[in-house]
Amino acid sequence: MSDDRSDSVNGVPGANGHVIEVTDSRTVHIGPLSVRRALPTRGRRMVGAWCFVDHMGPETVSVERSVDIAPHPHVGLQTVTWLFSGELLHRDSLGTEQLIRPGQLNLMSAGRGVAHSEENPGLTYGQLHGIQLWLAQPSSTRNDPAAFEHHRELPRLDAANATVTILVGTVDKIDAGVRGDCDLVGLELDLHGGDTTIGLNPAFEHALVVASGAAIVDGVRVSPGHLAHLGLGRDELRLSTEGPGKALLIGGVPFSERILMWWNFVARTEAEITDAWMDWAEGAGRFGVVASEFKRIEVGPPPWVLPLR
Ligand code: MN
Repeated sequence: MSDDRSDSVNGVPGANGHVIEVTDSRTVHIGPLSVRRALPTRGRRMVGAWCFVDHMGPETVSVERSVDIAPHPHVGLQTVTWLFSGELLHRDSLGTEQLIRPGQLNLMSAGRGVAHSEENPGLTYGQLHGIQLWLAQPSSTRNDPAAFEHHRELPRLDAANATVTILVGTVDKIDAGVRGDCDLVGLELDLHGGDTTIGLNPAFEHALVVASGAAIVDGVRVSPGHLAHLGLGRDELRLSTEGPGKALLIGGVPFSERILMWWNFVARTEAEITDAWMDWAEGAGRFGVVASEFKRIEVGPPPWVLPLR
């Protein structure tokens, strides 16, 4: 998270007067996978409460080439896991063991502290393709106990040339039925090719992340490896695609609190981050234990902590 490279930022006034700003994702490596990190980048830190977007795959996974993210801690954020293909096994220190498949949602609220792993279940191999996102928790919930939700099915609605799945929030008065700590929205757009219009809340800022194919928004082509920030004040998104594609639309009321993000922690002050890091390093009860065969991930101190001699 500290290795921000220079990102290209293009503010292009669209045909309807709204601004569209496209930032490049940066490539990070998680095990054998290279992942496109669309948030945070130097050009864009947050979209509403959304503060982290990793687009992984599609990549072939196998016994020799599997994705196993060993137990690690979180505070002050919610993890949202969404797959287009493949499977992952979620284990956490609440005792949860949950397989997730495409079309299903895992939402883990860290609050004051939780630990989890994401493992290859070893059931099916093949293409793994998905997005993991984080939501910063507001002060009203960020010190609450941890919680986990799995949603086997989510509401869908048919738009022209697209099927919209509501991951979180409300569209056309249909609510995802998923916990939301802030006013926000998250949608999967399954694009069939052609012109599509999606209703938006003009009080939200929005961004589009394309996972496959390409979409034209306000005359700007958006493809995988980029985040298109659509600004505030839009009551609809019009996009067009030449062929099939998948995209995620995220949005929300601009986050009013200044957050501090380091490693897997979202807090407000360096002291809070230092406490969380020490609690993890010392194996304090705050994070609990994950029933995983993988060894927990350790990390050195945050940069403002002087090394002990
Ligand atoms: Mn995690």
